[in-house]
This record gives sequence, C-alpha cells and structure tokens, in this order.
Amino acid sequence: MKHLYILIASVIIVLQPGCSSDGWISLFDGKTMNGWQPSENKDSWRIEDGALVSRGPRSHLFYVGDINNHNFKNFEFMADVKTEPGSNSGIYFHTKYLESGWPDKGYECQVINSAPEVEPGSYIERKMTGSLYAIRSVWKAPVQDNVWFNYHIVVQGRTIRIFINGEMMVDYTESDNPFRPENMKGRLLSPGTFAFQCHDPKSVVYYKNIRVKPLPDDAPTPGDPTDDPEFETKLVELASNNFPLMDLHVHLKRDLTMEQALGNARKYGFTYGFALNCGLKMGFETNEALEEYLTDYKKPPHTFLAMQAEGREWLDLFSKETIAKFDYVFSDAMTWTNDNGRRMRLWIKEETEVGDPQNFMDQLVDRIEKIMNNEPVDIYVNPTFIPDEINHLYDELWTVERMDRVIKALVDNNVALEINDRRKIPSPSFIKRAKAGGVKFTFGTNNAGPDDLGKLAYCIAMVRECGLTQNDIWMPVP
Ligand SMILES: [Zn+2]
Repeated sequence: MKHLYILIASVIIVLQPGCSSDGWISLFDGKTMNGWQPSENKDSWRIEDGALVSRGPRSHLFYVGDINNHNFKNFEFMADVKTEPGSNSGIYFHTKYLESGWPDKGYECQVINSAPEVEPGSYIERKMTGSLYAIRSVWKAPVQDNVWFNYHIVVQGRTIRIFINGEMMVDYTESDNPFRPENMKGRLLSPGTFAFQCHDPKSVVYYKNIRVKPLPDDAPTPGDPTDDPEFETKLVELASNNFPLMDLHVHLKRDLTMEQALGNARKYGFTYGFALNCGLKMGFETNEALEEYLTDYKKPPHTFLAMQAEGREWLDLFSKETIAKFDYVFSDAMTWTNDNGRRMRLWIKEETEVGDPQNFMDQLVDRIEKIMNNEPVDIYVNPTFIPDEINHLYDELWTVERMDRVIKALVDNNVALEINDRRKIPSPSFIKRAKAGGVKFTFGTNNAGPDDLGKLAYCIAMVRECGLTQNDIWMPVP
C-alpha cells in the first residue's frame, strides 16, 4: 500500500508544472497554454483531454516558460504522442521562437507513422517517427497511428539519442563542422528551447505528459563522431533528400547479435531487413522449424523480417500462411539444376559445372527467367552472380541481350533488383539499363557474419553513378 501512495504522489507531482520528482519537470499543465507560444496560425493548437493537439494550418508551438528560462543544453525530454493516419509533425529542440516558417535553429525529431495519400510521382515523406530529421533516419515507422507512444530524446554533450517506447532509434554524435545542406544550416547543437510542429491542416497529432530533465552543462559526450567525413556528407545528403537508406539483406550469422546489428544501423541511419535462409540444405528446411523460430522471434519494431527462399524446392517446403508472416520474400539464382541434371550452388566450386561459358550463361538466364516467372518473390538478390572462374568475363558474358531478358522478367513480374554490396553486383551498366526499363531497386549486404556488415558503400556509390532517385527504390509494404 505504501508503495502505491508513493506512486500516486509522484504521479501528481509530475503533473504539476514546475515541480520535479527524480529531476523530471513537467512543461505542460494539461489545461492551459501557460508557457507555450504558437507561431503564425495561432488557432492551430488546442487542448483536448489533457493533451496538446495540432489541428490546422502550419504553426509551431514553442516553449517560452520559466523552466531553465526556456534554454536547455543537455537534457532528457519525454512526451507521449499519438498520430492520426497520414499526419506529419515533429519535436524541435535547441530551437528558438520564429514568428513564421519552419524553425531554422536546432534539430527536429520526426513524428509521422504513415505517409498521406499523394498523386503518383509526388513527394512521399519517408523519414518516419524516431528520425533525427535530415541527419539520421528511420525508414520504417516503429509505431502505429491512433496509439499513444513514448518519445524520449536525450542530448548529452555532442550526442543525440532518440528512443521510441524505450527502443533506441538514433545514436548520433555531432562532429566539428558537420556538413549541412544549404537550407538546413541551423541543424546544430546550441542551447535553445523545444517546439512542436503543426505541419499542415490534415495533420492531427496529440502530445501529453510533456516533461524535461535538465542535465549538467558539462555532461560528457557518450558517443563517437564519424571518422569518415566524406562518407558522412553522402549520408546526410541522401537522408535530407528523403532517399531511403535500407539494407534489406542482413543475416544474423556467426556471432552477429541483433544488438550489434542495430548499433551498426544506427551508426549510418540505415533501416534493416533481417533475412532467414529457408530451403533445402540452407537454414530452415521444414515449416515446423520455421514456425517455431518465428514464434520466439522478437522483431524490433523499426526493422523488417525477410524470407530468403533458397533452391527451387522452397515452395513445396513452406506453407502460404508461414510465408505470409514475412514482410517480403527474396531469392537469388545461385541454386539450380543444370541441363545435365546436376543441382548446383554456384558459389561452391565443387558443386558447380561451368563448361562452355556461353552455354552456361544461356542456362543461367533461362533459370533466372523461370524463377521470376514462377516463384512469388519480391526481390532478385545476389543478382547476375556468376561463378568465380568466369567472373573475369562478367562484362563480356552479360551481353545486352541477356541483360534485357532479365530486366524484362523483373518488370513483367514486378520484382525489384538488389544492388548487392558484398559482391558489388550488378554492374553500373546493368543498373542503368534496369532503371531505364522501369525496375525498382533495393540495397543489400548479404553479410556472412559480423565482420562484413558494412556501410553500403557500393550501393551508395551507385546512387550517383547511375542517377538513382528515391522513386527508384522499392519499399516493403508491412
Ligand atoms: Zn543472403
């Protein structure tokens, strides 16, 4: 009972603005706008059932109250947030009051759980809830519309961390003189206040239990800034251009743990799809074994789960219901039976019969077409792979005619093409041809363990070399 009284007492204290318990201080009393000042369209903000609600044309609601004289350097910030479908909003920190327009000082932490319907070809916001806007993104919303979730921002020294429902989405440490796009020069750490965004009249977002815990000004920086400023510039350019940076082909193999993998994803602002190998002689061989694994699998909410369909027998091994539990399915054309009846895995020399390279290529292209035409896959991965012994002939063997047959099979069946980071395939000329033919792309590492889970360097290089835009990228529909 005593514990209950203490619990109730502390809840009451937290709800009183200005009072603190464990260092947390409420910034909103749930009844009045005391301490808050809206910009431009001031009627876009109201209070409903103890929550601040954005409902109207663009406006930003700034904290201008007495706590810390509305000037925060190091802090923890928390709010409970709820979105209606298609709503866009955000939480700014280190910002300052601006009478009109988008705040030009400080960082924005993104709030959007589903993009609104738009005309085909127009802008779709891909930077989802938990993103540090334009700097590090989460490309899959970790939470859903119409459900309250907890937004937690920690700024300590030069490190910014964002947690959604306790799960870390962003772990970013600002370096000296970081690259910022022309219209985002003010996205830098320097003390300031908080603001909520009312983005547009169709966006309805609720905020409550808004609280802050100031931390000492000299709190040490827990994270590390980038050691590769050139690559960092590319990352920020792509993130700010709304270009989804997703590695949809990650394996938790060897000793690679989920936590390690997610740490790598946060380092670069990537969203991961974790893939299970399913097929004869490859990982899961029976529906029962796969179901058992799926029952225990704890999927991080900001990640995807993929089935890597192996070999050509996979459709007989797994039920439709089990396959439907994955966010997407992909396969490669590295396991097939040749005209002599030999089942080959092309990356294993002892199993592979190459013979005449031209004849081998004709068989390979035929198998790729059959896989795309007959198997319900979303992505063709490890694409255009050929065995090591003829790989030096890659450009010669992948003739225009063969490329076009593969591209047609992809387009006809609505299958996306992976740009594979580990093997650096397909070649730029293949990618350019596929893009011109209307193929969508994904990025994938296909790591063998913890050591080769990299930073998508080949994929990112191909963006510029082949002129890829966000509209060329395939998105899983969870
Ligand atoms: Zn794989």
